[in-house]
Amino acid sequence: MAKGNINVSVENIFPLIKKFLYSDHEIFLRELISNATDATSKLQHLASIGEAKGVEIENAQIEIKIDKEAKKIHIIDQGLGMSEEEVEKYINQIAFSGAEEFLDKYKDNESGIIGHFGLGFYSAFMVAERVDIITKSFTDAAAVKWSCDGSPEYTIESADKTSRGTEIILHIAEDSLEFLEESRINELLSKYNRFNQVSIKFGTKEITEKVGEGDDAKDEKKTVDNIVNNTKPAWIEKPSDLKSEDYKSFYRELYPSQFEEPLFSIHLNVDYPFNLTGILYFPKVSQSMDMQKDKIQLYQNQVFVTDNVEGIVPDFLQMLKGVIDSPDIPLNVSRSYLQADAAVKKISGYITKKIADKLASLYKSDKEDFESKWDDIKVIIEYGMLSDDKFFEKATKFTLYPTVDGKYHTIDALKESLKDNQTDKDGNLIVLYSSNKEAQHSYIEEAKKKGYNVVLLDSPIISHLIQKLESSNENVKFTRVDSDFIDNLIKKDDTQISKLSDEEKDKLKPIIEGNVPKENYTVQLEALDSEANPFTVTIPEFMRRMKEMSATGGGGMFGMNNMPEMYNLVINTNHELVGSILVESDEEKQKGLIKQAFDLARLSQNLLKGEDLTSFVKRSYSLIK
Ligand code: ADP
Ligand code: MG
Repeated sequence: MAKGNINVSVENIFPLIKKFLYSDHEIFLRELISNATDATSKLQHLASIGEAKGVEIENAQIEIKIDKEAKKIHIIDQGLGMSEEEVEKYINQIAFSGAEEFLDKYKDNESGIIGHFGLGFYSAFMVAERVDIITKSFTDAAAVKWSCDGSPEYTIESADKTSRGTEIILHIAEDSLEFLEESRINELLSKYNRFNQVSIKFGTKEITEKVGEGDDAKDEKKTVDNIVNNTKPAWIEKPSDLKSEDYKSFYRELYPSQFEEPLFSIHLNVDYPFNLTGILYFPKVSQSMDMQKDKIQLYQNQVFVTDNVEGIVPDFLQMLKGVIDSPDIPLNVSRSYLQADAAVKKISGYITKKIADKLASLYKSDKEDFESKWDDIKVIIEYGMLSDDKFFEKATKFTLYPTVDGKYHTIDALKESLKDNQTDKDGNLIVLYSSNKEAQHSYIEEAKKKGYNVVLLDSPIISHLIQKLESSNENVKFTRVDSDFIDNLIKKDDTQISKLSDEEKDKLKPIIEGNVPKENYTVQLEALDSEANPFTVTIPEFMRRMKEMSATGGGGMFGMNNMPEMYNLVINTNHELVGSILVESDEEKQKGLIKQAFDLARLSQNLLKGEDLTSFVKRSYSLIK
């Protein structure tokens, strides 16, 4: 037996390994399985170029075994193995210096460690008090056993292993006994290695198989290897080889507890200027907890790294589901560094572009289908339009503006369909919209009477988006249907003839003002169509929009939502009722008419509440007695 010293400058590095990676101890298994996978792939590569003649590489497996009594975990591969010289070089020198460098870098900055890769083989010492490597190279070199107890000292001796490959034996430390539980190992395997490139066997399982034919057929129990992973997940396949059903079934494989089907999927596949594959899904919007839990997962060569893709995937796409796999994402760095990394920026830009292109082609190829999904995807798209100018531009092609009657238009089609009837005297195209079909029903009806189209824009961030749409579409203004009386929404040249003279108007105004709360309502007399409602409450567009923007964040309108509610009360001087109010000589009766009309107007705007509502109901009953 030979003894040696690992070259250490940091005195006894192993306690440090434990300390610094405290929260991430569990990654030891992923690291060792990655090494076993690399060793297997390397041998397969050598065989494919004729440098490993006569080596049987079919069905190469990695096996994980737990020996609870002896407190050991074994990780066994059939990869290329190592000779004594190779152990000396790769384990004692290279792997160690890798670990040392890693710790050096993060010693003072624990939070900087996102704890992924880099520590490699030596992460075994996070859970083991002794680690043995028994390895036999695929060449003629003799088998060796390396052993180390966490001090800088190791031993190396010959071993009698005859089969090719490497067995790592972890003598689990007292504070890590949880890893001897089958359930814990299963959990780790399914978290990190469910799509590992090489098959992983963990124990055996019973299956039932049909044997024989026809009447003689019977079920027979059989014990087979328990293979924990799918080595060929959908994202590594060629998109042209997959059908839509394959994408759906991969979604179910990825999120077994998710019952909703995804709306559509996007297959990512680039090899220049960075490597990236993956599948992203637009989920059906749902409030369920699983939705929050099922996030986009980041892999490196089919090994799970994290489901925190902040900085890699743009914020507005974090609501998507699926997988991204890239060997080019630097992982041993802090998030802020990641966001500044040029390659990562390109990746994020690529994903955004790919999503936009896919949405455009989906809309083009099946408009009806796209329209039926619009409600589920609009929040993501609208959020994207606000946060990313490039996406905003591309989204012009597929962002839909549904009318209250369920017709969908792109912005260009909408402009085209409105331009004849909804251009005002100053040449502005007025897009009338409603944020709630039910609540603004009477206003929508007034607009329809004029032959106007009303679009339904009901997302929480819509006022921000409208602001942006107005600044990028010249001469287009958005106005909510209840923001003014109908003729003022779209001002045309034709002047209305007033039934009341100016004198009569001057007499009427103070009478009405005396009967409505002055601090919230501005009375406005207008000569409208005699069929239009006599009293109407409107909410000025500008004020309302600023308030909404302030409430949903941003817009620089801090404090706007503390402003008192301000409304206009529009009195239609051409309506019969208004005429009767003016000529009513009984003051009590006049008051009653104004109150009733005012309450009806507030009711239409959903503003009649509490005591006012109660007395309105009472008064109304007395009127129909
Ligand atoms: P990395 O995997 O990043 O190279 P590691 O510290 O994980 O760093 O491993 C160091 C080296 O040890 C590997 O590059 C490889 O040469 C060797 N090695 C580790 N595990 C195995 C194994 N199971 N079979 C063959 N070689 C291995
Ligand atoms: Mg490694």
